Amino acid sequence: MKKIGVLTSGGDAPGMNAAIRAVVRQGIYEGLDIIGIKRGYAGIIDSDFEVMERGSVADIIHRGGTFLHSARCEEFRTKKGREKAIEQLKYGGIEGLVVIGGDGSFKGAQLLSQESDINVIGVPATIDNDIACTDYSIGYDTAMNTILDAINKIRDTATSHERIFVVETMGRHSGFLTLMCGLAGGAESILIPEIDFSIENVCKKLKHGYDRGKLHSIILVAEGIGDDFKPNRDVSHSKAFALSKEISNRMGFETRVTVLGHLQRGGAPTAQDRIMASRLGAVAVKLLLNGETNKMVGIIHEEVKSFKIEEALEGQKEIDRDIYELANILSM
Ligand code: ADP
Repeated sequence: MKKIGVLTSGGDAPGMNAAIRAVVRQGIYEGLDIIGIKRGYAGIIDSDFEVMERGSVADIIHRGGTFLHSARCEEFRTKKGREKAIEQLKYGGIEGLVVIGGDGSFKGAQLLSQESDINVIGVPATIDNDIACTDYSIGYDTAMNTILDAINKIRDTATSHERIFVVETMGRHSGFLTLMCGLAGGAESILIPEIDFSIENVCKKLKHGYDRGKLHSIILVAEGIGDDFKPNRDVSHSKAFALSKEISNRMGFETRVTVLGHLQRGGAPTAQDRIMASRLGAVAVKLLLNGETNKMVGIIHEEVKSFKIEEALEGQKEIDRDIYELANILSM
């Protein structure tokens, strides 16, 4: 193998730049030519390629976002679109590809490796941390710290004004981020898609706190919680607002809502995300050099391992119910 490409795809996550840097520098160290592909799969189809030197990735390890840019590419979901992409990769002499992204991007990576002789390795990057076969995804740690910082600030105001704050975090299908931030931030209630909740219990807990003199509370809500609070991308109709109104009606307390939104995806990556991104990116290059394809790299018990992409796509990462219970007990 002489030439490999690297791209970032799907939702961005802090630490993607550190992963690109690792791929580029490990690849150059191994004697490979490295091509940076802009805007994910769209950039393959448009042949938006750029030769990477060591200096191309200078001064990016500490930056959020992705300097290669990311995109969602509908054309790549079609066989025709992928044929076009394969043609462009072949024309550019690219024999291996590192895809840094979430499970959608991995689905694309899997198809690309099955439909061509281009070797493809996935590097997990999503703040949701919901990809199976890895304990952590790049961006998760930074997003947790960003949310905690926001909770700390909101708690100051909640305390000053003796109010209940409903804080909505990202997580349409998964509550890892919300659960861990709820535990670390001391949230009075944590509502996530994986675990049913009743509004009666949320109110009961608030009343219990109120009866012992507690006048402020934080309720942390993942955006994907249950059907009673209908999903809607429009912030003014988000579930957090519906929930807040319901609590206010039932309890007669003033409630406020903060939807954290995209600020959770930005910011300088933490030490943990930079270290993980560096390790995962470097191993992805080594797997390509070993002739491997259709794999993803992951971290299990602090060790970098590789798995079939299929295992990651079919696997289901489970919420740790003991942690949910613990957070509940500690916040009573
Ligand atoms: P993420 O990687 O963050 O989960 P998406 O689900 O938006 O983000 O996927 C990113 C891109 O991966 C999509 O825009 C598309 O180009 C590609 N992709 C996702 N799912 C598929 C699929 N089933 N087949 C082919 N390509 C896909």
